[in-house]
Order: sequence, then structure tokens, then C-alpha cells
Amino acid sequence: MINEKMFGLGNEASIIRELSEYGNKRKEIVGEDNVYDFSIGNPSIPAPLEVNETLIDLLKNMDSVSLHGYTSAPGDKHVRDMIASNLNERFNCKAKGELIYLTQGASASLSISLRALINEGDEVIVFAPFFPEYRTFVNNAGGKMVEVQPDLSSFYPDFEDFSRKISYKTKAVIINSPNNPTGVIYPHDVINKIASILKSKQIEYGHEIYLCSDEPYRELVYKEIEYPFITNYYDNSLVFYSFSKSISLPGERIGYILVSSKCKDSERVYKAICGAGRSLGFICASSLFQFALPKIVNSLSDLSKYKENRDILSKGLSDLGYEFIQSEGAFYLFVKALEDDAVAFCKKALKYDLILVPSDSFGIKGYVRIAYCVNKKRIIDSLPAFRKLKELYLEERK
Ligand code: PLP
Repeated sequence: MINEKMFGLGNEASIIRELSEYGNKRKEIVGEDNVYDFSIGNPSIPAPLEVNETLIDLLKNMDSVSLHGYTSAPGDKHVRDMIASNLNERFNCKAKGELIYLTQGASASLSISLRALINEGDEVIVFAPFFPEYRTFVNNAGGKMVEVQPDLSSFYPDFEDFSRKISYKTKAVIINSPNNPTGVIYPHDVINKIASILKSKQIEYGHEIYLCSDEPYRELVYKEIEYPFITNYYDNSLVFYSFSKSISLPGERIGYILVSSKCKDSERVYKAICGAGRSLGFICASSLFQFALPKIVNSLSDLSKYKENRDILSKGLSDLGYEFIQSEGAFYLFVKALEDDAVAFCKKALKYDLILVPSDSFGIKGYVRIAYCVNKKRIIDSLPAFRKLKELYLEERK
């Protein structure tokens, strides 16, 4: 008898992947240019030139046995030290190489860390709307996910709901800013508030509550803001980073976990991370990409293209009367559906070959996510389809 829970996960694809598959099939029928597929957060901007140059240089000049060999399980020591000093230069955060674990991207960082922190039955708080895979990672670690609702005017957490939902069983809280799916960035005040609530709850319950910052979009920011780096606000914190989005390398699977050096018993927490990595088989992230990191750690794709897309899309949709919260980062716009049932709304959108993701799997009803990490032409060409969709609803209301 196989594991039915795992069968269930494998058997039902995520709605985002399902829609993306549908989009691919539809493109074969009506042509690529006639499908306005906004389903998946796959970067459309090429990786910066120095990425390939660095890889070629490594392939040509580094001893091939070392280049392709195993590094130590948490990653090459020099690379981890380099990431720590880079973070210290940027965020003055007292990061240490010996508390960094190189991973196969943010998904692996989440899986490993939750496995390391959670005991069966512990609760993990997430703020809706959230990246749907959090459910999978929390469940797999034996935890129970507890959802906190947002303040709909800002999409910051509803702090009363947050305080109420923290219990003796709360082991960790996940935040994600810039956020998938809203594009909202938590400013300094919001991070401060989350930290101060958690500090007092730790005292009340007499144990650590870990704040986990999932930040694959950290560099995708379209407004002047000093990014509030979590370890500077809250001691028992962990950072999950990924190079998937900032330098357009989602298929290469490279990122890291940072345990704050101020975390209580940080070395024990780190050892648990090593143990979880080992138990899940997430050891030694791609050595080729590890060795490339010192040269590309400060590189960025041309992110101004996403901002341009955001501007065209938000102006176009606002002119048509759609309602949304302005996206400040990442590459998503979260738009109010034109009826309460976002799934039904997305089905109607498909009539015009508009592929949007309903918000239900993000833990909130009545919205759709538009991933604007596509080429500019697709955004411009999609606006008449958004107009037709709006007109359909106006017609129906007559
Ligand atoms: N966390 C969030 C919020 C994401 O949006 C994604 C990917 O879209 C991930 C984690 C996973 O990223 P990675 O490709 O690094 O596994």
C-alpha cells in the first residue's frame, strides 16, 4: 500500500500548474500570441550576462572533479562565508557563514526549516493571502497551518486576528514580503509590530516562536524603501532566500537558509536544519551554482522591465474600472474578481483566453492573481480581453 497522502499530492496538480498546462495546450490551438497566460511566476527576463560568463569560466578553468564533486552537505564553506559577509555589508545583520545552509531554492529552504522546527501537532501561522505550497510544506513537517486574515485595505496582517491565533502550540510564523500574490511589501512598522507581538507571546508561553521570512522577491521592489531585514527586528528568526527570481534562475535550484546569529541556541537550530536537510535528501546544492555565487551574488536581472509591466497593467486595468491594491514588488497584481466566486470569474475569463489564478488556494476568496512576469506585448495585447470580460459583467447586470 503506497502512502495515500503523497498519492493525493501527486495526483492533484496545483491549480497554478494546471492553468499553465491548459494555457500551453490552448497556445497550440489558437497560437501563442492569442493566449494571455498570467498563471505562473516564471521570470521572462534573461539572467544577467555575467551568470553565463561565470559558468563558462568555471567550466573552462576550474578543476572539473572539484567543480562537479560533492561539497559539504550545507554547502561550500567559502561560499557560505561570502554570502554572510555580503548580507552583513548590505543589511548590517551579523550573519555568520556557519549558520547558512545552501539549498535547492526557497521551496527546499521551507521544507527543511519547517521539518527542523516542528514537532507533530505544532502550529505554524501564515498570513493570507499566501503562497499555496506553504500548506504542503507545513503538513509534510507534521504541523498544522493556522491562517491569519489580512486587513483588506492594505493587505498587511490583521494584527488582532494574529494575536488571537497565536497559541501555546505556535512554533513558527511565516512571512513573505514582497508578497506572492499581492505584491505588497511590509514596511518597517509592520515588521516591528509582528516582532513585538511575537516577543510578548514568547514571554507569555515561555518558549521560542520562530519568525521565518520567505523572501525570494527581496530585490524585486518598485518603490523607495529600505528593506527591513528580519534578523535586525527579531532574534529567533530565519531567512529563506532564492536566486530563482532576482537573477532569473528558477530551474537551477539555488538558494539558502540563514539562521540568525541572535537566535536562541542558534547552533542547535542550525544542527536541526542540517538534520532535516539530511533526512529529506536536500544536501549539497548544485556545486556548479555554489561556485558561481561569489561572482554573481550582487547581480540582478533587468528588473525595470517588471516595473514597466506593472505600470502598463495597473494603468490599463484601473482605466477599465478593475479594483486592486497596487503591487509594490514581486511580479504579481492581486485584482478583485467581478463576482464573489473567483473560480467562476476565472472560468469566464478563459472565454477570452485570459488565464488568471483564482485566489482561493491563496487562502482568501474573491480575487485573482495576475503574474506580470511576461513580455510587455502580452500585457498590452491582453487589455482588450480584460475590457470584454468587464463588458460581459456589465451586460449581465443590465
Ligand atoms: N516562496 C514564494 C513566496 C514563492 O513565490 C516561490 C516561487 O514562486 C517560492 C517560495 C519557491 O521558490 P523557489 O523557486 O526558490 O523554490
